[in-house]
Amino acid sequence: MTVVMKFGGTSVADPDAISRLTGIVRQQRAKEDDPPLVVVSALAGVTDKLVAVARLAEEGDAARAEAELRTLLERHVSVASAVTSASRAAVLAHVNKEFDELIGLVHALAVLREVSPRSYDAVLAAGEVISSRIVAGALADHRVPAEWVDARRVLVTDAEHNAAVPDMLGTEERVREDVAPRIAAGAVPVLGGFIGAASNRATTTLGRGGSDYSAAIFGAALGVDEIQIWTDVDGMLTADPRIVPQPRVVPQLSFAEASELAYFGAKVLHPSTILPAVAKNIPVRILNSRRPENPGTLITADGAPAGTPLTALACKRDVTVIDITSTRMLMAHGFLRRLFEVFERFKTPVDVVTTSEVSVSVTIDDTRRLEGIVDNLRNFAEVSCEREMAIICAVGENLRADTALFGRAVTALERIPLRLVSQAASRRNITFVLRNTDVPHAMMRLHETFF
Ligand code: ASP
Ligand code: MG
Repeated sequence: MTVVMKFGGTSVADPDAISRLTGIVRQQRAKEDDPPLVVVSALAGVTDKLVAVARLAEEGDAARAEAELRTLLERHVSVASAVTSASRAAVLAHVNKEFDELIGLVHALAVLREVSPRSYDAVLAAGEVISSRIVAGALADHRVPAEWVDARRVLVTDAEHNAAVPDMLGTEERVREDVAPRIAAGAVPVLGGFIGAASNRATTTLGRGGSDYSAAIFGAALGVDEIQIWTDVDGMLTADPRIVPQPRVVPQLSFAEASELAYFGAKVLHPSTILPAVAKNIPVRILNSRRPENPGTLITADGAPAGTPLTALACKRDVTVIDITSTRMLMAHGFLRRLFEVFERFKTPVDVVTTSEVSVSVTIDDTRRLEGIVDNLRNFAEVSCEREMAIICAVGENLRADTALFGRAVTALERIPLRLVSQAASRRNITFVLRNTDVPHAMMRLHETFF
């Protein structure tokens, strides 16, 4: 079984984190015949710092930009020295060389007082170039046959700097030529996430948080059996722990469920970033590098086996409900189009929609243009708004098969005034709209009922 193991910023933040990483990779190496491929983020907080350095360069403040970089250099030198032994001199030479180049680049940018998207990528990419060098050295010094591979020579992208789009065919070819043979020979390739290069060799980045995306791209290109996202939480939870005191870890869920939950701010990973893996039916597992023995959360195309009632709950507070009523809607066509055109004109996304014959209720999150929306709707309908409302969403593929679940959910919320209730066409979720103040109680009732 081949796996991609991606370690996020907190899993490479300091020497302790990197020793945990080496232990985890070594165990994986011992357990399976096929060596894993390792992808790493920059050390926690480093990309943010590099963003600040780029801004200082743009303001022409070379001295402060350089000072920031020297502080970052010190941090990397101290981490690298702590986690390496035989490879220490070589790794430190790489770290120093990268920072020398970066300092030179930042001085040039400060003279020009201009940081183009292309230069910005060159600055940001340093975080992953350096972290991957350090991790490769640490692994090699802990009896893992690691080989550093320059991700910029493997991940081929277009030239859309700061949010580059991968060229999957080009990347597959590079993986076949330069990565797969190393794995076949028993080595563990170590690559930086988030970074790639366009066909003109210019360094590109995939957008903030892009290391998960890199892991999925490499995993899909290699055709691995699993992609592991190592982070600092146990996985996706059945509810927000700030609202429900003891949520459980969701053992398994579908990609579509993960996408529904992501909308509500379940921030463990952004589902679109693992799309290349899911499209190839490769399972993605979220694991905690502080508790590697825990099973984590598995995301697959199909989700949990049938029989699991609900997968998770999510909620979003501070939404506004708009009720739009018009007798002109009765048996007329074109009404909904007119109505939604108003939201389009005011560039305001609508989240939940319910309709009856003479009225439509919608919720919106962004109320900056509410006044204009209401004025326009009043041209053809009666309108009323209610603020301080919330959306609770119960997600589960099984809602489709087990119709009794809907009834159980409504019963659980018996005494709580529900403003809107809707079951989406996908029948993968039930959505309740209620008052902000009823959220904790409603979430607890649902959680007790289903988990
Ligand atoms: N280091 C990059 C960032 O902070 C990419 C990542 O960590 O996923 O956005
Ligand atoms: Mg991340």
